Amino acid sequence: MSAEPQAGAAPLLSLRGVRKSFGAGADRKVVLDGVDLDVTAGSCVVVVGSSGSGKSTLLRVVDLLEDVDDGQVLLDGEDVADPWVDADAVRARLAMVFQQYNLFPHLRVLDNVTLAPRVVHGLGRADAEEAAMAMLERVGLADKARAYPDQLSGGQQQRAAIARALVNGPELLLLDEVTSALDPELVGEVLDLLLSLRTEGVGGRPTTMLVATHEMGFARDVADEVVFLHDGRVHERGTPAQVLGDPRRERTREFLRRLR
Ligand code: ADP
Ligand code: MG
Repeated sequence: MSAEPQAGAAPLLSLRGVRKSFGAGADRKVVLDGVDLDVTAGSCVVVVGSSGSGKSTLLRVVDLLEDVDDGQVLLDGEDVADPWVDADAVRARLAMVFQQYNLFPHLRVLDNVTLAPRVVHGLGRADAEEAAMAMLERVGLADKARAYPDQLSGGQQQRAAIARALVNGPELLLLDEVTSALDPELVGEVLDLLLSLRTEGVGGRPTTMLVATHEMGFARDVADEVVFLHDGRVHERGTPAQVLGDPRRERTREFLRRLR
């Protein structure tokens, strides 16, 4: 990938021994069983694994939508899993895009994108709209600013959701299966946008990403590192060529075989 993480640079995000389970007693299910993971500023880490392997839980832990049972979630060295941390301040540095675009249906596309700058960053309407229009232009949707979400295709709605995620200039973009709900012919436009965010970024700064996806071709194109999650652990990690092209472990090979 174009943006090589700086050798020796402290990671923007570090997970250390993160554990998370759901339920109690006999129903207790360990989903994350000691996960270690680093994302260096400017890089892209792609998490793959079977359905139910904990990819969404991992992203939700980072976005503080789930608390952890044990371990650390370090953002710039600060443990944001600490219950005393100001969660809103942390979330203002991150942005998450979901499988279902989650646009507000009663708001025009432009108003969906201006909401966070106005509410979270206290921008006035004019400034927020200027920032939102610039971001809609970036994702190729300037002409849809006045439309309502249901007047857009699924691919356009997801691009609008990405514009909304990026408008506050997050340091880390979390993407959870953002193409899984799309008709196959609409997947390409979203992946192309994400690829251009990796290479050109926004304002010349490549977007740092932590991505969960089933799109192995996309993982190959954008990832600096691929992480295979299995049984609540990082079972294998490495470059896309290594993990996806020449996996060392049998579980990884089996996972990739089943995708074909
Ligand atoms: P993935 O995104 O890889 O498909 P998830 O993180 O969504 O996996 O889920 C991992 C496991 O955790 C699944 O077995 C799922 O049913 C369970 N799980 C996720 N969220 C909850 C929850 N809020 N309550 C109970 N179980 C959950
Ligand atoms: Mg998921």
